[in-house]
Parts: sequence; C-alpha cells; structure tokens
Amino acid sequence: MKRIDLNALNGAFIGGRWTPTADDRRFAVTNPADGSHLADVADCGADEARAAIEAASAAQAGWAARPAADRGAMLRRWRDLLVEHVDTLADILTAENGKPLAEARGEILYGASYLEWFAEEAKRLYGDIIPSASGHNRILVIKQPIGVCAVITPWNFPNAMLMRKAAAALAAGCTLVAKPAEDTPLSALAVAALAAEAGVPDGVFNIVPSSRPAEVGAELTGNDRVRKISFTGSTGVGRKLIEQSAAGIKRLSMELGGNAPFIVFADADLDAAVDGAIAAKFRNAGQTCVCANRIFVERSVMADFSARLSEKVKVLSVAQGHESGAQIGPLINKAALEKVERLVADARGAGAKVKVGGHRHEAGDLFYAPTVLEGVTAEMDVAREEIFGPVAALMAFDSEDEVIALANDTPYGLAAYVYTRDLGRAWRAGEALEYGMVGINEGIISSSAAPFGGIKQSGFGREGSHYGLDDYVSVKYMLMGGLGA
Ligand code: ADP
Repeated sequence: MKRIDLNALNGAFIGGRWTPTADDRRFAVTNPADGSHLADVADCGADEARAAIEAASAAQAGWAARPAADRGAMLRRWRDLLVEHVDTLADILTAENGKPLAEARGEILYGASYLEWFAEEAKRLYGDIIPSASGHNRILVIKQPIGVCAVITPWNFPNAMLMRKAAAALAAGCTLVAKPAEDTPLSALAVAALAAEAGVPDGVFNIVPSSRPAEVGAELTGNDRVRKISFTGSTGVGRKLIEQSAAGIKRLSMELGGNAPFIVFADADLDAAVDGAIAAKFRNAGQTCVCANRIFVERSVMADFSARLSEKVKVLSVAQGHESGAQIGPLINKAALEKVERLVADARGAGAKVKVGGHRHEAGDLFYAPTVLEGVTAEMDVAREEIFGPVAALMAFDSEDEVIALANDTPYGLAAYVYTRDLGRAWRAGEALEYGMVGINEGIISSSAAPFGGIKQSGFGREGSHYGLDDYVSVKYMLMGGLGA
C-alpha cells in the first residue's frame, strides 16, 4: 500500500469490515489549512456503536485467550506497518489536522512507539504470590483483561492518542471500540486498515466515526457490555462521561484539560529555557494539553528571557503543513481561532503588552500569528483558561514560594515545567508542583516509556510505561487451600 486511498476510508470499521451506516449517512472532513474537502466518512449513531460493541464483545474471549506473546507479535507487526507507511499516514494527518508534515511524521512514529512498547509489555503482565497467614493455603494474584473498552479520542493527536490507548488495551487482552474526533477521523480509519493487514482479528479493533459524539458517547457509556471508558479531551466532556458511566459502574481513564506552568528561575540556562519554551508552547500550534500555558519568569531575567524568546518566535515559519519548513500550521477550526482572539483581546484590555504577533496570520483563514504577551497576570482569562493556540503568556514572579503557589492555583494538574540549575530547587519544585508530570530542564516529556496522566481536574489513569497496562486489567485474587499435610 503506497498511498492510502482516502475514498476507501469512508466506512466505519466494525467486525473487520468497512461498514456504511444503515441510511448511508456521511459527514465531510475538511483540511483546516485551506478549507478543502478531503472525504465523506460514515456518520455513525447509536446503532453502529452498538454493532461495534457487539463485534468487540464477540471477539473478546478469543482475544483474551491468546497467548500474550501472540498478541504482542501482532502489535509488533502493526507497529512495523505504521513505520512502513509513515509518509502516507503523516500526509493524511497533516491534511485533516493541519500540523506541519514533520510533526505529523513525528506523531506517527510516536504512536507506533506505543505499539512497540506494549507489544513487549504484553508478555510481562505478571501476577503475584503472597504469603498467607495460614500455612495451609496460598494467596495468588492474577491480572485479567477488563473486557470491551470504549475509547474516545481528540483531534490534536489523531494517531498517537488512539495508539497509546489501543496498544495497551489490546496488549492486556481487551477488545476495543474507538470513536475518533469528528474533525480528524481519517487517521484512525487509516490505522484500522493496517490493523487488519497486521492480522489483528476481526472485532478486536473497531472504529465508529461520527459527527454526533453525544449520541455515540451515550451508547458507549450506557451499554453494559462496555466495561471501561478511556477518554482524552476536555474536562467538561470528561465530567459528562464520568456521570454517564456511573450507572454501569464502569472503569474509567480520563486524560483531560491542563493549564501547564512553565517556570524559569533566574539561575536557569536561559537559552535552554527559551528552546524548551518554544517546544512546549508552539508544538502543534499550541494545541496540546501539555502545552506551556503560563510561562512564569523570575523578574530579574524577564527582560532578557522575553527578548530571546521573541527573537525566536518572530522567525517561526507559519505555513500550510504540507509546505516544506512549516513550523506553525492552522488552528483546528473557527471556534479555536475565535477563542485565541478573545483571550489575547482580554489580556490586552487588562494591561498585557504584545511583544510579537497578536493577530491572525495571512497564511489562511484559520491561522494565528505566533504571539508573545508580556505582563500577564493571574486574573486574566489567558492565565486561567487553556489557550490551545500559539500564544506565549509571560508572567513575572519574585520568589520560589510565590511561583509554586501561583503555579498550583488552578483546578488542573497535568504537566508542569521547571528550569533551574539548582538541584535542591529542582527537587523541591518537582515535589511541590501539584501535577501528574513535571519536566525539569526539559520542554518535551512524552514518551511511551513514561506514565502520562494528570491529577485534580486533569483526570486520572496513566498511559504508557508499565503503569499503562494496569488501566486495562482487573486484579483477581485466588486463595488456594488444602495444602496442609
Ligand atoms: P475539544 O474541545 O478539544 O474538541 P472535546 O472534549 O470536545 O475536546 O472532544 C474530545 C473528544 O470527545 C472528541 O472525540 C469528541 O467528538 C468527543 N465528544 C465531545 N462531546 C462528547 C459527548 N457528549 N460524548 C462523547 N464524546 C464526546
């Protein structure tokens, strides 16, 4: 398969078959860089979601019964196919999401790394034998797949968010129904085509694209055959899914919104801090849940840091993702663009200074110029809300205690970043920050080997690393008796 045919990706993927909806309803997928039409995709509703759940349920026992090494080998083949088709998959990803091609390639390889990781971890789903109080029996612990899992994924990493859930679920012996975001269903459908080619059995991996997420979400959360929901997206939708899952007492993993602090102490290597801020802020045009949202800089180095950052932000190349050298693509849709405009206008109105950007960009209707704001304060919307755009909000601070308190003053707790050369301060800050992940002198922290996830209203559950498998298994205790003489 040299080029994945977009026209072939127009069905839902249910039970190993490309399936139209009963009424052949479809929705259009467009390219955010220029508004062009990419494909019409099956618009699934509750009926298709139910059919996918039934397919997953029918495949569950057989998949769980396979030796872990077989499941791992299949995931490994799937990984190899992703890598083999990286250019095609990146092309599709850039077309539907807008991110620069180089980032899209990086995302495909990152997504594939979860398949590699969990292909190996599948074989290490160890149990335990615990000494019992009685000499006549033994406490045995085994880990078993939870069962059918439903996963709902966002548009900002249409490949990687799906792969890190699917790889762990399938490795643990669970089957899966995935609902990709309505803006970006093609990347999910493309990997489904490769799953089939890798030999993943029919029904183990199902995709139900939809422009009606609430309807599909209601079926996924309401259906008793689904034993777990794993969601990546906004805190508001996560809260709704938790409520909807309460009746059926489902297992849940929630990877929700963030408001990441990026703290630069005066003793930091400022060049490294500037590079880290560029990476943590401007990747995917600022549209990631771990993007630096509030950049706290110690007052004595603020002018220097701001000048160095501004120099680099000014020369970021804003262009359609397919253009060579593009670094900043479009925002995903009009609502996202208008939100960024509102946040910048509010900050300006409240006294923040625009050092760079601060306006739309002529590259296209959904582009926003990379922006640096100085003089941001904690009350401004830009500091309280998740920006999800290419806007660096700089806030000055005077002491370690003050900045830790400011950084923690948010309902969110996903990622935080600290730049300092003082080892004691690095430890203190790392431990005091109420976040699930802390990058110390690093602006990019995601890796399949590391546990990704948040605390507070950023959610719960971990993806990646050996912790990631735990989210897809139930612990079973068996007491083996009759051993005494
Ligand atoms: P964003 O605001 O970044 O688009 P969302 O939380 O709205 O984030 O979307 C993340 C995912 O959640 C997408 O797949 C979207 O379709 C889905 N989604 C949105 N609303 C619901 C809902 N009511 N039930 C289930 N899924 C939903």
